[in-house]
This record gives sequence, structure tokens and C-alpha cells, in this order.
Amino acid sequence: MCLDIDDTLVDFTNAGRRALAALLGRDDLWAEWERTTDSHVARVVAGELEYAHMHHQRTRTFLGDLGIALDTASVTDFELRRRTLQRAGWRLFDDVLPCLDWLRAAGVRLAAVTNASGAHQRGKLADLGLTRFFDHVAIAGEIGLAKPDPRMFTTVCLALGCDPTEAVHIGDKLDIDAIGARDAGLGAIWLDRADNPTDPETTPRDVHVISALDQLPQLLVTEYARVGVPAPR
Ligand SMILES: [Mg+2]
Repeated sequence: MCLDIDDTLVDFTNAGRRALAALLGRDDLWAEWERTTDSHVARVVAGELEYAHMHHQRTRTFLGDLGIALDTASVTDFELRRRTLQRAGWRLFDDVLPCLDWLRAAGVRLAAVTNASGAHQRGKLADLGLTRFFDHVAIAGEIGLAKPDPRMFTTVCLALGCDPTEAVHIGDKLDIDAIGARDAGLGAIWLDRADNPTDPETTPRDVHVISALDQLPQLLVTEYARVGVPAPR
């Protein structure tokens, strides 16, 4: 079982939004921040941008689009202060620990699969007491690849010692998590915490959708028994 981290296990958006608002004095920029981040991740996946430069370049572009032109040292300082504030605001969703406890008790091998940077993300897992749950942690910043690159998923399966068809990935992003995993040959679950009505135009039939992690055990038992989850008594 592969799990995304940000906005799947950790309430990353609220922490990030508050950090950005504290630095810029306004709370209406999160959507633009996400768009800028997504476009820079896409450039990494396309091989146009080194992962190591992605966050700095993202922050420089975002501030530049706001009309804030900073030199390299000031961009670095802004990003450092933003991350420090964000880290102080990280929280686990309430459904995370019961779900991870269940998966471990069921004997399911677990991997975290994230597009974030290495030190940042390992610090987050440690801060929140999650490290002990995972057999493997795959971090884009350490591997130099990012979801939805299928190699992100297939290297995780290699590390877990299973075929992609024996693995399932869950994440909060329909495109890079669920469809990315599906295209790499894994079972795919979209965690839509907003619980929007499922749109058959955009959600493929072979992607399962749940709105909270407390629905995951039942889905694994009914749809993915081949991953080794014991049948309910
Ligand atoms: Mg996520």
C-alpha cells in the first residue's frame, strides 16, 4: 500500500495557506501558489527543470507574478521563513493513525510516496510520529523523479518487493496520485476529502474514490483482497 503524504495524511493546505498569509499579509493567494507549484512540478516531470532548483524557482516565479522582484538571497530567505511557519502548523487528519494502525495490524507493507523535498518531508514524518509505520519512503527530491512519472511508482514496488499489480496507491490528487498510479499499473484510489460528487467525465472507472481514510479498510477488503488483507470475520 502506497500513501501520499501532503493533504492525504497531513493537513498541508491549511498549514501552507496560513504560512503564506502570515508572510504576505493576505489570504487569497493559495490557489495561485498551488498553480505555480504544480506547473513547476510538471516541468520537473518533463525533464525541463532540476528538482533541486524547483522550490526556489517556484517561489521566485510566484513572487515575481505578484510584482515582488527579489534577489536570490531574499528568495531563499522568504522560502526558509515560509517553510518554518508551515512546519509549525502541520497536523495529522484525525483518521490517519487508526487507518495506519489497521494496515500494520493487517500485515500490509506500507510506503509513503511524495513529491516533496527530502529533508523537509522526512522531518515532517518524524515530527508527526509517522516514520515507524513505513517500510519504505519515496521522496521526489531524493530520487529526482516526481509523480505522475510511472517510475516513481514502479521503484516503490521494487522496494516493497511486489509487482505493481499487487500494490495500491492512495492520494488526494486525482491526476498525479490516482491516475498516475493507475497508469503505472497499480490499483488507484483518489482520496477526495471534499467529498465532491464523482464526475464520470473526469474520474476513470478504474479509480476508486473515498472521502476519508476510515473508508480505506473496507475498500481494500472488498476490492483489493489480493494485496493480502485478511477477509473480515
Ligand atoms: Mg498530496
